[in-house]
Amino acid sequence: MTEHSNQVYAGIPRSEIAWFPTLNLERCDGCGECVRHCKHDVFAVVDEKPVVAKPENCVVGCKACGWICPIGAITHPSKDKLREMMKHARLKYGFSLVQTDKR
Ligand code: SF4
Ligand code: SF4
Repeated sequence: MTEHSNQVYAGIPRSEIAWFPTLNLERCDGCGECVRHCKHDVFAVVDEKPVVAKPENCVVGCKACGWICPIGAITHPSKDKLREMMKHARLKYGFSLVQTDKR
């Protein structure tokens, strides 16, 4: 699997972007679909349940494991929250706030 340490997303350190799955382990039945599906080495398995071991490996904007989970135990930030995070990070790193997302 790819190791993404010190990676950058859109010119911003990936560590500044809080995009990763959140697992509801009370709902999770340990089926392992999320672990098998993700190709980015985000998950580890502890006591037969997934844990988000490498959150910075998660692809910004990807929600695939959330769609795969058969019982809806995985959530991600909303698009609005992601926009807010990116805006904050761009300001912090001195990017101009040119609107590129016109949805
Ligand atoms: S959102 Fe995508 S990249 Fe991130 S953990 Fe889930 S499947 Fe992997
Ligand atoms: S796919 Fe859902 S139920 Fe299955 S291990 Fe992952 S979080 Fe748990």
